[in-house]
Amino acid sequence: MTLETRLSQHPRARMGHLPTLLEPMTNLGRQLGLDLWVKRDDCTGIGMGGNKVRQLEFYLGKAQAQSATQVLITGAVQSNFVRTAAAMAARLGMGCHIQLEERVTEPTALYRENGNVLLDRVLGATLHSYPDGEDETGADANLRTIAKNLQAAGEVPFIVPLAADQPPTGALGYVDAAIELLTQDTRFDEIFIASGSALTHCGLLLGLRALGDETPVTGVCVRRRATAQTTRVGQRLKDLARLLDMPNPVTDADIRLDESALAPGYGRMGPLTRKAVERTARTEGLFLDPVYTGKVMAALIRRAPDLAGKRVLFWHTGGQPALFAYADAFAAD
Ligand SMILES: *Cc1c(COP(=O)(O)O)cnc(C)c1O
Repeated sequence: MTLETRLSQHPRARMGHLPTLLEPMTNLGRQLGLDLWVKRDDCTGIGMGGNKVRQLEFYLGKAQAQSATQVLITGAVQSNFVRTAAAMAARLGMGCHIQLEERVTEPTALYRENGNVLLDRVLGATLHSYPDGEDETGADANLRTIAKNLQAAGEVPFIVPLAADQPPTGALGYVDAAIELLTQDTRFDEIFIASGSALTHCGLLLGLRALGDETPVTGVCVRRRATAQTTRVGQRLKDLARLLDMPNPVTDADIRLDESALAPGYGRMGPLTRKAVERTARTEGLFLDPVYTGKVMAALIRRAPDLAGKRVLFWHTGGQPALFAYADAFAAD
């Protein structure tokens, strides 16, 4: 069975602008001594785009198959996932309940109200809050309580789960992205991509290896240290292979993580990330975000001397709406 056939067993609510462009980053590449390219998954179309569009096509395909009327989802206050879910649910005529977790300590007023939160409100989502940002199972359990209440009111709720004990449905979107990349006929010496929940990283890596492509994929840690993330990626790859009903084609040696840009922690922008965001804007006219893609670019810039002359792909996963929530961090010098 081909990988495409395996993917087609899963319902999908197609609405992303796909395939996304693969573009050279000539100016920044020249400065870094690389043949640098970008995969424009910030331009997936709906709800200001980003990687979550590919993931949510598969979650919302399931929701549609169950005739859901309300989508429930949990994430950090400035989550791109929940904003995109609210937009895609709206397109499908479903309501959206968003649970925002306190993952970032000492958030500013802008962090709480601007950026993605502003968009969540414009989209008409119902916002709930959850006091703990490190308790994925608890966050999912609280969503189930909200779901029960909705059910009692006659709604059909569908939960987009967060915790790693649930099938990695969203990763299917990045298995599809791997197929898409290989149709774009440019091969790379290395790919850099953010590794948070790891669904993006796992989907891309498993998809490439399943198709016999051996391009090194470096996951840049944005949420937890490399040791913990390696375990998570390994586990999620097994779960993804099971979901696709195939053997896992990824070896342990294939799981590469770079934690060099993680400090000072999830959702907080250090000086090198800020520099990477500003440098990319000033050389390429391309906006990165302070939580994910800025860190990926910071890690890539640090590795550039080792990669001299190589063709490198920076996978842009979106997130720019969060820039507005971090205005204070850009203002301070
Ligand atoms: C969620 C997110 C990521 C990380 O993707 P995961 O699949 O959770 O690892 C990267 N970049 C942006 C902009 C995101 O919103």
